[in-house]
Amino acid sequence: MRRFRRGVLLTAMLFSLGCYRQHPMEEPGRFRVVTTTTMIADAVVRIGGEKVRVRALMGPGIDPHSYKASERDVIRLLEADLILYHGLHLEAKMTEVLARLHRRKPSHAVTAAIPRERLISEGSGDVYDPHLWFDISLWSLVVQHIAQLLAEHDPIHKEYYQKQLALYQQELMELHLVSKRVLEVITPQTRVLITAHDAFRYFGRAYQIEVKGLQGISTVTEAGAADMRELADFIALRRIPSIFVENSIPPKSIEALRAAVHARGFAVQLGGELYSDSLGNPGTSEGSYIGMVRHNVTTIARALMQGESIEKSIQR
Ligand SMILES: [Zn+2]
Repeated sequence: MRRFRRGVLLTAMLFSLGCYRQHPMEEPGRFRVVTTTTMIADAVVRIGGEKVRVRALMGPGIDPHSYKASERDVIRLLEADLILYHGLHLEAKMTEVLARLHRRKPSHAVTAAIPRERLISEGSGDVYDPHLWFDISLWSLVVQHIAQLLAEHDPIHKEYYQKQLALYQQELMELHLVSKRVLEVITPQTRVLITAHDAFRYFGRAYQIEVKGLQGISTVTEAGAADMRELADFIALRRIPSIFVENSIPPKSIEALRAAVHARGFAVQLGGELYSDSLGNPGTSEGSYIGMVRHNVTTIARALMQGESIEKSIQR
């Protein structure tokens, strides 16, 4: 019971952390940054503030693994003063476009500064899981790299970028600590996060949660029938209360998994929608990185508390 009360309190703390800031209006004369993902664009907004104007090519709910650059995207990229992309093969279908731009424009992979030993390796060779924004301490390093790149390419505002970075990194550290404490409400028995694709392994590593995705780290390969059966058996056996849909993937595969678990006599729930490979809509709280993390953390904590809702525990 005290555990649940603590969950409620920490959820409230998480929501009070910082507040949503509107993205700046596009104005001529500002340093122009074009990014691939919404996560990178949000970091640029937080560091660059009024000194930059930023545009993300991939909007909310867009799957970066399968996104192909349109003609309009290429024009936008050519108009940019600085191009920032994620790297680690996240933008798998934009490799050629980005390589061509490298020769004409300052363009950088924001994950380039992360030591390789801190990345999750994908077996042999130089292949790594790209979803590192779910480890807040790693994302904070990415943000630091973004601030360095802004300062390097727009040196007149270097001091401003450094000041903004210090403030934002402080907020990220607080976000990490509160997330950790909110997720402590989940008991060891149900500390398993099951989603459509393997986007949450960094999250699982940072907060000691076992993670299982129906598909691999890319959405390009389909989940097989054997994977589906194996996962359904696991959920029914362990009595995992909830599984989750993702905002950048159609819910079809997770709904099929739910039906397979029901057929095994266990009523697993849909725990809600998690933001995986993009932020939410601009103007909503989930349209910022901090708001997105808060949403995911509270959704996961609520849904995995062995079927007990935080709300129910307040009424007791
Ligand atoms: Zn992904």
